[in-house]
Amino acid sequence: MRTVHVIGAGMAGLSCAVQCARAGHSVAIYEASLQAGGRCRSFQDEGLGCMIDNGSHMLIGANDATKNYLEQIGSKELVTEIAPATFPFLEPDTGQQWQIKPGSPYFSLWLLTPGRRVPGTNPVDYAKAFKLSRAKKEDTVGQIIGQDDPLYDRLWQPICRAVLNTDADVASAQLLWKVIKLSFLKGEAACRPMIFEKGLSAALVSPALTFLENKGADIRFQARLRGLRWQNDVVLAMRFPEGLLRVENEDAVVLAVPPDVCAELWPDTNPPVETLPIVNVHFRVREPIELPGGLPFLGLIGTDSQWIFSRENVLSITISAASDHVDKPNWEIANHLWSEITKILGRNMGRLPPWRVIKERRATIAQTPAVLAGRPGATTSLNNLFVAGDWTNTGLPATIEGSIKSGRRAARLAIRRMTKVPDDP
Ligand SMILES: Cc1cc2nc3c(=O)[nH]c(=O)nc-3n(C[C@H](O)[C@H](O)[C@H](O)COP(=O)(O)OP(=O)(O)OC[C@H]3O[C@@H](n4cnc5c(N)ncnc54)[C@H](O)[C@@H]3O)c2cc1C
Repeated sequence: MRTVHVIGAGMAGLSCAVQCARAGHSVAIYEASLQAGGRCRSFQDEGLGCMIDNGSHMLIGANDATKNYLEQIGSKELVTEIAPATFPFLEPDTGQQWQIKPGSPYFSLWLLTPGRRVPGTNPVDYAKAFKLSRAKKEDTVGQIIGQDDPLYDRLWQPICRAVLNTDADVASAQLLWKVIKLSFLKGEAACRPMIFEKGLSAALVSPALTFLENKGADIRFQARLRGLRWQNDVVLAMRFPEGLLRVENEDAVVLAVPPDVCAELWPDTNPPVETLPIVNVHFRVREPIELPGGLPFLGLIGTDSQWIFSRENVLSITISAASDHVDKPNWEIANHLWSEITKILGRNMGRLPPWRVIKERRATIAQTPAVLAGRPGATTSLNNLFVAGDWTNTGLPATIEGSIKSGRRAARLAIRRMTKVPDDP
């Protein structure tokens, strides 16, 4: 039976495998680590005594491919959609709080309500977003919006960091415009935050593995692909530490690995290798804490802590585009962020509780114009080799949605290739 060999069980690899299995193909998955999920995973932390995610993740209502994937693997109810769409913010220095509440698809109408925009701004300030629509490939958000804009620090910078994991001064203006078109310009439902109250793996990973097992997929952990053998434009074999594994002529191989690994395995793809880190700190608190704004997450302005997520007894702090923080010692980061958030939450929460710092040094590619210009497509110079991952040219930011879309695209190409190749005589 024709087999799709999927290398890497992150979101791209899982989504590819699910599509291939759904289409009735034989699937084999090879994952280097002990667990699936890649940069989007949960694990039991012995120090904290509970399950945590490697980093807090959020989807938005516009993430149709992800919603579809959740439906296919039967875990839609494990993601909580917040309606109406609301993004609460707090600026500790001024004590000001506000909520961005996007509304009707007619961009400006909801902005006429002062309570739904950043304090001290007027609807005209938001009209500058349309300047992004005319941005050229090489333009950054900072250049188009201007760093002296009243919304720069309180809207554009937090959006760029949250969505592109890149500071606004270097983030791609065209990519940000794409996000605005798919979310704010589509209306309230497209902007709804979606969070993982039971954790990332419970919603995105474990149900996919169960689905694949039920479809008979061969899933191997600690199976790190070391190299490929090819001839006459097709992959002939995959090299694992244990030895060579033959790839039949009618099979397909999908590399759903991070860009630096792809650069080693198939350098012709020329993947972008400039990445940016995200730092997350999880604090195990005595009891669940309600955040200002009343939602399980809160955006912070003017502090190193950028977002707080509160889930059961864990407070998690996110710092995106974290190049200035990632090399600091863990204890220093934990102490600093704890002192920031205890002030913010305005209560005596006691001494530093049990904590865990997770530094994802290569969290995503840097989403700058130069890096994005080098994103490759899914095909390669080999007829039966395809690539997938958030770093490929999906037209979307490097996110779960981008990974899932890239996995689906690779699945389509792999299936098309397999159905074209005649059986070996
Ligand atoms: C801290 C953090 C916060 C984030 N927040 C958000 C968010 O809020 N919303 C959002 O949409 N996105 C967010 N993202 C981005 C999102 O997690 C990624 O875009 C997505 O998980 C990438 O999936 P992927 O499959 O493309 O790559 P990966 O997750 O990197 O998967 C690649 C897989 O390949 C495996 N592998 C590597 N080498 C080999 C090999 N040689 N052989 C076999 N297997 C191999 C790896 O172990 C891994 O499992 C965040 C990322 C991080 C790190």
